[in-house]
Amino acid sequence: MPDEHPENVSPDPRVVSGKRRSEDQEQGLRPQRLDDIIGQDRVIENLKILVGAAKKRKEPLDHILFYGPPGLGKTTLSHVMGKEMGVNVRPTAGPSIERAGDLAAILTHLREGDILFIDEIHRLGKAVEEILYPAMEDFVLDIVVGKGPAAKNVRLNLPKFTVVGATTRLALLTGALRSRFGAVYRLDLYDNESMVKIVTRAAPLLKTPIDEGGARMIGSRSRGTPRIALRLLKRVRDFAQERADGKITAEVADQALDLLGIDHLGLDDIDRRVLATIIDKFDGGPVGLETIAASITEEADTIEDVCEPYLLTLGFLDRTPRGRVAQRRAYEHMGRPFNNRLQQQSLL
Ligand code: ADP
Repeated sequence: MPDEHPENVSPDPRVVSGKRRSEDQEQGLRPQRLDDIIGQDRVIENLKILVGAAKKRKEPLDHILFYGPPGLGKTTLSHVMGKEMGVNVRPTAGPSIERAGDLAAILTHLREGDILFIDEIHRLGKAVEEILYPAMEDFVLDIVVGKGPAAKNVRLNLPKFTVVGATTRLALLTGALRSRFGAVYRLDLYDNESMVKIVTRAAPLLKTPIDEGGARMIGSRSRGTPRIALRLLKRVRDFAQERADGKITAEVADQALDLLGIDHLGLDDIDRRVLATIIDKFDGGPVGLETIAASITEEADTIEDVCEPYLLTLGFLDRTPRGRVAQRRAYEHMGRPFNNRLQQQSLL
């Protein structure tokens, strides 16, 4: 029986991976209402309109799709939408729904207005997707009852429910599934000020004293990702308790983050290995993602979902049809002379 998404708990040992891990217990950290959400202003404004209008019409929410890198709040927003609408949220994930029957079982247990949250929705199987289409569009479930010549098609009516889908890979979603969503929102990496606010809000919830410098130090080294900020905050808290007087200041945070191998921009060992590989082994690129992944024995998915969005935001990498290319800033950060012949000649 499919249930809470265990696949989402990654064995990835990186502190800055952004993927969900078992240590990411919420401890009341998850914002509960739209007004509690820090950052993502445009998306939040749109969601408020969606909720307000649905409530006035006394209708369930339209189906919603959130996409963007891991750890930016897609799951959180799905729960917040449940709270705002006063309905239950049934969480599941693409890889957990193996057979059409699994989805049918979930759908028949939903109540009017409920939210079905499907994380990693791009990983739904084809047979499962085909059950989902009529369910989303007409709130019906087509099932086959019996076997062999006696088999019959039966159509069941479902309560009007809402699918909230989340994906890190919009491009992997079939066009048919994508078109079933009335509202599609992209979550971007958070700006620095929002990150500082997120850390400042979380510290007292973790009973950890922090000053502004400490919050800034952690916020600015969390690559625009709340999940990473919260994870780093916990590790810095441990350091503050063991090696200082328990309070997180800029100095304490700086030392703790250095010890974790996270540099002043928030890059960790894997990011630096990606950059070093492109620059040193492949003369700055272009080089394909799979080749980079094989060179540093990392999963291509991790590089694409976690490293790249941030390296692109920093202007360290460029994606070209022929592969990834390291930019001048990446050379500077890595302390290498900028010598990409093709880029210098503007041939790319
Ligand atoms: P995703 O589903 O996109 O991987 P989550 O919703 O699980 O991300 O969020 C990761 C963590 O970050 C959670 O602990 C959540 O409480 C926190 N978080 C996400 N967005 C925000 C935000 N805007 N403000 C405060 N905390 C946030």
